[in-house]
Amino acid sequence: MAVPKRKMSRSNTRSRRANWKATVVTTTTCPQCKALMQPHIACPSCGTYKGRHYGVAERTEHQG
Ligand SMILES: [Zn+2]
Repeated sequence: MAVPKRKMSRSNTRSRRANWKATVVTTTTCPQCKALMQPHIACPSCGTYKGRHYGVAERTEHQG
C-alpha cells in the first residue's frame, strides 16, 4: 500500500479541501406533470418514470 513520505503542509491540506464543494442538484421537468424532478429517478409528484407509473415514488407527505 502506498504511504505518504512526508507530512502534508497545512496550506496544501487546506487548498485541497477548499476545492471540495457541494454541487447543485440538477433537475429536469417531468414530461407527465411538468414538475421539477431529478433525472433517472421516478417523478416525486406523479410517480412516472419511462412511461410507467410507480406509486411508491409518489410523495404523500407535504401535499395539500
Ligand atoms: Zn410527474
